[in-house]
Amino acid sequence: MKCHYCDREAVVRLPYAKLNLCREHFAEYLLRKLERSVERYKMFGKGSKVVVGVSGGKDSVTLTKLLSESGLAKLLVVHVNLSIGEYSRISVETVRRFSVEHGLDYLIVDLSEYGISIPELVAKTRRSPCSVCGMVKRYVLNALTLDLGYDALATAHHADDMAVYIVKSFLLQDYDQLYKISPVNYEVPGLAARKIKPLYEFYEFEIETFAKLYGLPFVSVKCPFKHVGWLERYVRELLDRAEEESPGFKISLLRSHARRTLSMRSAEQAKPKACASCGLISSGTECSFCRFTRRALGQPMGLVVRRWIIGEAAAGGTRRVTGTPPSSVG
Ligand code: SF4
Ligand code: ZN
Ligand code: ZN
Repeated sequence: MKCHYCDREAVVRLPYAKLNLCREHFAEYLLRKLERSVERYKMFGKGSKVVVGVSGGKDSVTLTKLLSESGLAKLLVVHVNLSIGEYSRISVETVRRFSVEHGLDYLIVDLSEYGISIPELVAKTRRSPCSVCGMVKRYVLNALTLDLGYDALATAHHADDMAVYIVKSFLLQDYDQLYKISPVNYEVPGLAARKIKPLYEFYEFEIETFAKLYGLPFVSVKCPFKHVGWLERYVRELLDRAEEESPGFKISLLRSHARRTLSMRSAEQAKPKACASCGLISSGTECSFCRFTRRALGQPMGLVVRRWIIGEAAAGGTRRVTGTPPSSVG
């Protein structure tokens, strides 16, 4: 099997694009695909400052590598230490190693001394570990992007997962969730950072193949809290079968969905509110993070997190941190 563009052996086949590619042309193809996605969805302008949320898994290291190769933005790698035993220890070390090897500025956020550790928070609630973990990560990354003055927050959600979330939210008739799923969620000044998903149209197999071909360090152990429910399993199987029957099916679904959600964004953000405790975006009087930590830890922790971020950025320390923190918050 020869590469579509040269005489070298192909190492990957992309059925949706009807292409067989060698290692070099595959990397070039993915880089162009990333640049086109950034442009298509108007994610950020050239020279912007972008925070990349990096868990240390194959998706987030591939996203960071491609963004860094593209030279489109100045990056800050941010990892939230979830304090989930050995899994977190490996993740922190992987992100550190990856960042150092690639000469990237990085920041490891560790708030365990304030009780913000996933096992500790999970023990105090009936919520599922992944929902607590998702809320904590969303809060910290949003606060950090805003408080350090970055233009956007990039996360590594890919096409296979996004298609599952869309169909699952529809089946559950969870329209609030459904309309939040988008390649770009635009900023609300002072309250919410711009959130972007540059891998929105990337298949998981492309990401995994790239990470392996280029020897990127990534965490392959599973989080002990990982649990996939029956509905998600069912929807994933269904979509995988549809993709096999009709290559490119998931990308068509995602593009149609994006057209709809992006045209609705102004109505959705018509009246954003500020959390009474921390000042960031909230659907009620207090944001879900402050409400949750008030119940679990006895006090809302939003402002504590925001002060930590600013202090840490100002201190610099051994980490290479960029950004000019504002002098005070709240
Ligand atoms: Fe967090 Fe769940 Fe992922 Fe574990 S599996 S890191 S708890 S979101
Ligand atoms: Zn080639
Ligand atoms: Zn709050």
